[in-house]
Formats: sequence, C-alpha cells, structure tokens
Amino acid sequence: MGRLCQTDGLTEDQQEILKAVRAFTEEKIIPVATELEHADEYPTEIVEGLKELGVFGLMIPEEYDGLGQSLLTYALCVEEIARGWMSVSGVINTHFIVAYMLMRHGTEEQKRRYLPRMATGEVRGAFSMSEPGLGSDVSAIKTKAVKTDEGYEITGQKMWLTNGGSANLVAVLVRTDEGADSPHKNMTTFLVEKEPGFGETAQGVTVPGKIDKMGYKGIDTTELVLEGHRLGADQVLGEAPGQGFYQMMDGVEVGRVNVAARACGIANRAFELGIDYAQTRETFGKPIAQHQAILFRLAEMATKVETAHTMMVRAATMKDAGQRNDVEAGMAKMLASEYCNEVVQDSFRIHGGYGYSKEYEIERLYREAAFMLIGEGTSDIQKMVIGRRMLQEYAQR
Ligand SMILES: Cc1cc2nc3c(=O)[nH]c(=O)nc-3n(C[C@H](O)[C@H](O)[C@H](O)COP(=O)(O)OP(=O)(O)OC[C@H]3O[C@@H](n4cnc5c(N)ncnc54)[C@H](O)[C@@H]3O)c2cc1C
Repeated sequence: MGRLCQTDGLTEDQQEILKAVRAFTEEKIIPVATELEHADEYPTEIVEGLKELGVFGLMIPEEYDGLGQSLLTYALCVEEIARGWMSVSGVINTHFIVAYMLMRHGTEEQKRRYLPRMATGEVRGAFSMSEPGLGSDVSAIKTKAVKTDEGYEITGQKMWLTNGGSANLVAVLVRTDEGADSPHKNMTTFLVEKEPGFGETAQGVTVPGKIDKMGYKGIDTTELVLEGHRLGADQVLGEAPGQGFYQMMDGVEVGRVNVAARACGIANRAFELGIDYAQTRETFGKPIAQHQAILFRLAEMATKVETAHTMMVRAATMKDAGQRNDVEAGMAKMLASEYCNEVVQDSFRIHGGYGYSKEYEIERLYREAAFMLIGEGTSDIQKMVIGRRMLQEYAQR
C-alpha cells in the first residue's frame, strides 16, 4: 500500500472492510483487468466475488440485510476497486445509486421488495435519465408515461444505460403530465423490472445491444427502448409522481462522489505505474526519475492525487453528516476527474513509447480517464452547479 490516498479517523470496521476490498483488488482484479478489458469481456467472477464480500449491499441498512455502511466507506471501496479496474466500479455504481434512491425516497413496501435482494446482488440496478437527444439538459426528456386504468404506459427511447443489459431493475426518469408549470415538476421516476440480457426483456422493453465504447469495456452500456410498457402506480418511486427530477438529482449527487472516487483510484494507479517505471527506465546514464523534469512531474502528480482524495473524502463526509453537499460533490467530481486526466497523461508521457503499447496498463487507464470527464455530469455542468450556488451564497445585499 502506498503513501497516497490515506484517510484519517476511520473506524475499525471501515479499516477491515477496506483491507478486504484492497486484498480482493490486488489478488482478483489487477491481474486480469487489462486482458478482460481488451477482450471486452464481462468480469463475471469478479462480480461474484464482490457479492460475497457484501459490496452490493455496502450502504443498504442492516434492517434490509445490507452492511449499513456510510457513503465514505462506500467511496473508499470504490476508489480501491477503480485503482484495479474502473469498469468494475461501474458495475456497482448504478446499483448503488438505485439502492440509495430507494432508501431515501421509496415507500416501505418498495424498500422491502427490493433492498434485501439488492444487498445480495440478486436484483441489480441501472439508472436512466439520458436520451439520444439529451444528457446534460435533463429537463428536455421526451420519454413519456401516460395514465391508464391500471397504472401507466411508458413510450420513448433512453440512451447510455450503464449496466443496461445486466440489470433487472431500472430507475427511469420520464415525463408525466402533472399539470405543473415547471418541466422539472412534471417528471416521475419509474422502477422498471425486466430480465437481464438483450432483446425484448419485458413487455414493451427492449435492450438492443451493447454500445461499442472507446474504454470502460467489459461492462455493458446500452440503449433502452420502451414501447407501451405497462406498469402499476406502485412502480412509481415513493408513489410520488412529479418528484422524479428531485429524486434523481439526489441520486446523482452521491453518484458524483462515486465518480470522484473512481477518478482518484485511476489517478493513484497511474501515479504508481509512473513512479515504478521512472525508477527502472534509464536514459543518458541514469534512471529517468533522476532527471529533474521527471521528478517534478512525479511531485505534481502525487500532489494532485492527494488533493483529489481529500476533496472526495470531504464531499462524502458532509453527506454522511446529513449536510447539503451539492457544491462539494460538484467540486470533488470536477477536480478529481480533471486531475485524473492530467495525472494519467503525465504517467503516459513518463512511459515514453511503451505507454502507447497495449501491453502496458497505462494505455487502458488513458482511455478510462476520459470517461471521468463525462459521467454524472461534465465539468461544465459541475461549474454551473458550483457557480450558481456561489452567487446565491455571496449575493450582494
Ligand atoms: C459510457 C457512458 C455511460 C453512461 N452511463 C449513463 C447512465 O448509466 N445513465 C444515464 O442516464 N446516462 C449515462 N451516460 C450519459 C452521460 O450522463 C451524458 O453523456 C453526459 O451527461 C453528457 O451529456 P451528453 O452526452 O448529452 O452531452 P451534451 O449535454 O450534449 O453536452 C455536449 C457538450 O456541451 C457542454 N454543455 C452542455 N450544456 C452546457 C451548458 N449549459 N453550458 C456549458 N456547456 C454545456 C457539455 O459539457 C459537453 O461538453 C453515460 C455516458 C457514457 C459515455
């Protein structure tokens, strides 16, 4: 274990969990990650191992058979896992967001129906806001649910569902007509059940296939086509039509801490690879680490890794303390993802030509880092969140 990304004040419980996840990452993830990623192969064995470790139920309360851990514990586990292979952290991220939304906004009946089976990984969650025509601008959602005698019928097309194939429960944000004057209040989150896999996986629900991506391979990212999908009013999250936008934003807020944690994990790994390589590769008669330009680069990389980790921990800790953390989550997500890309780029440069070879892990990290800039809102969107709140807080009276 390196010196970077340490966290003060963890309980014994937290330390034990992290130790187990770290050992799992070292033994079961890192040795196979690059090969599976290049083959775009789903990490089935790793996912089974994570189920055994209880990672799918890490934050689910004990009364619903989870481990009842904090967001901080969860984020630190994600950081460890992403250090091994970012795609694996993606397997649990959407699951975690859906479980979190159920915990916070679900009815008691919905919690009992889903959370115990989510804790074991039997029910696996995906969440869906984006559509072919929108990502940042959630208010432009076109997919629509209309009321019927039995409940609702949803029609529309969703895009970019992480775990869209492997999940059997999808939290989908759609437009409903609640008669409100704001588009945000005319949106509802539905809990759509389907079978895992591709093709027509439930009545009126089609998952066409995997989207071929630049990185973040191994894990399935899909479209979701809804054609008159019928479901009961009890499948509305919290049985609260018109609250969907706010429920999703709550989920995205913790999702931002999660992406920040993933970016920290990738950056830490890129640093480790860079500093190892710099001590073995020689040019002009000495290891390249002894050229001051490389030494300074390593120093900057380490500082960025440490700063991002600190910001991420602060955002998680605030949420755990019950404080509003939209600004801190936005800052952590933006800073960690931007720094992650810079650190990976620096490590790539340190590797010289070999960094461009698929034999070297940094090639994979290079492609993974790019996604950190996009998932759970781009840096531009984080700046909008942070900037608007700053104007409110520092408004001239
Ligand atoms: C691999 C992958 C997995 C994903 N998984 C999921 C998922 O599980 N669920 C889900 O719902 N979505 C998912 N997404 C979608 C993701 O959240 C969106 O791609 C992201 O929010 C950006 O939206 P967009 O692609 O439509 O870009 P756009 O919103 O079209 O933005 C394009 C560019 O314009 C900028 N921009 C947009 N609006 C503004 C503004 N007001 N001011 C300044 N700049 C602006 C953006 O920053 C960006 O640079 C995934 C995406 C990818 C690539």
